[in-house]
Amino acid sequence: MRPDPLTYLATELDSLKQQGLYRRLRILEGEQTHKSTFDHHSVVNLSSNNYLGLTTHPKLREAALDATRRLGVGSGSVRTIAGTMDIHMELERRLADFKKTEAVVVFQSGFAANAGTVAAILTKDDVVVSDELNHASIIDGCRLRELPAAQRKLLITDGVFSMDGDVGAVPELCALAEEFGCIMMVDDAHASGVFGKNGRGTIDHFGVHGRVDVQVGTLSKAIGALGGYVAGSRTLIEFLYHRARPFLFSTSHPPAVAAACIAALDVLEQEPQIIERLWENTRFFKAGLQALGFNTGLSESPITPVIAGEGALAMKLSDRLFEEGVFAQGIAFPTVARDKARVRTIVTATHTREELQFALDVFAKVGRELGILRS
Ligand SMILES: *Cc1c(COP(=O)(O)O)cnc(C)c1O
Repeated sequence: MRPDPLTYLATELDSLKQQGLYRRLRILEGEQTHKSTFDHHSVVNLSSNNYLGLTTHPKLREAALDATRRLGVGSGSVRTIAGTMDIHMELERRLADFKKTEAVVVFQSGFAANAGTVAAILTKDDVVVSDELNHASIIDGCRLRELPAAQRKLLITDGVFSMDGDVGAVPELCALAEEFGCIMMVDDAHASGVFGKNGRGTIDHFGVHGRVDVQVGTLSKAIGALGGYVAGSRTLIEFLYHRARPFLFSTSHPPAVAAACIAALDVLEQEPQIIERLWENTRFFKAGLQALGFNTGLSESPITPVIAGEGALAMKLSDRLFEEGVFAQGIAFPTVARDKARVRTIVTATHTREELQFALDVFAKVGRELGILRS
């Protein structure tokens, strides 16, 4: 028998177990909503990205069912061969109107949109400057100044940072991009459906339409379904149709997904009060955590971290919350700095006041028990 060439993987898993960082997948029974059942526990769900509760919205459900009945369950091909359905084109037009750009290309996920786009528009001789830190830290002008003027540069920031919930310094970075001749890119995955008029995102929130060359969004978070997209000029989108590898080599969405996304855009236009409810819940819950004395970092969005310190403590906090009926995912190194491990909370528009108050009471109890809060 040959030796197992994958034994090193077991060694790595053992090391995760020793550090208290080994995680079992939590299994969702039933629907993804504000109060869900995971692993046979009914919990207040503070771990989804379902900001507006659209995963179970009747209009999205009905649109997906109708598209399935009319059009079947799959597209049967990649976009560039036989897999571009008219519903895919309709979604791209609707998204371009929504984002106020010339054109949009939809990808299978936000991940595919990011990876496919950056790889397509840059070569190995180009540089990427990314605002990776959560401090809304403006990129030091010096770093850009050091680069030759002729070098192609891509300046990237998140609109909302997913681990700290703070907002990217989009207008300041646009100004830097203009000064140093950079391509400006914003990943608005956590901002679309949340910030800006009718949830148009941080570009709309900051009023910088026309100054961001590449806008990435996701259809998997507030929009409630699945997918990612790039919004920009007609030239950019046509180029990506020809060169973005996930677009060229991976099958397009089932019609139900495109239909659900179109229905979600209708909901954002017709029921903007859902977004207002999200922000009311955000203010209530964030203020509650802060009043208890938790360190909630720099958050300015519905994402509020509760910073515990070392990784094992954050995981223990998450486990105890879960046992008491609150699901808030623990997050540790390497996703965040070693001494900034945390549980991350995300409120949604559909949480009730009672559920959020219950969650605050559980946070208070468990926080004291683990010595994160002084009693
Ligand atoms: C979630 C996320 C993505 C990926 O989106 P998916 O549609 O889930 O693949 C990309 N960028 C950021 C900043 C995200 O938070």
